[in-house]
Amino acid sequence: MDCIFCKLANGKIETELVYEDDKVVAFNDMNPVAPIHILVVPKEHYASLEDIPEEDIGIIADIHSAIKKISRMNGFSKDGYRVINNCGKDGGQEVDHIHYHVLAGKPMKKLISE
Ligand code: 5GP
Ligand code: ZN
Repeated sequence: MDCIFCKLANGKIETELVYEDDKVVAFNDMNPVAPIHILVVPKEHYASLEDIPEEDIGIIADIHSAIKKISRMNGFSKDGYRVINNCGKDGGQEVDHIHYHVLAGKPMKKLISE
């Protein structure tokens, strides 16, 4: 069965997309922690970075390429942003479909580990 991000990424649950190409979509996080908080998600299901087979690892470049486009389209490429991937239990991952958080719109605090 499709997970929640599969459904959002493939249009089975309607959501406003910030970005879409043939492999990747992006939408606003429902619980933002910064003025801009976008999730960048591949259309294909991979549970986490650890679950991407080596032959498919190019999807990580596709995600980063999408992030650069999103930063330009939304006017925060100059001021900068933070990209986060939570991987697995100790990484704090809650949704088991790989996604990258893009945080922008204010200077970020020093990264801490709680
Ligand atoms: P994680 O902790 O797995 O890295 O982050 C999951 C993120 O997905 C959280 O920031 C959470 O707010 C967001 N999220 C979870 N479910 C949904 C959803 O159905 N829609 C949207 N837009 N965001 C979601
Ligand atoms: Zn999925």
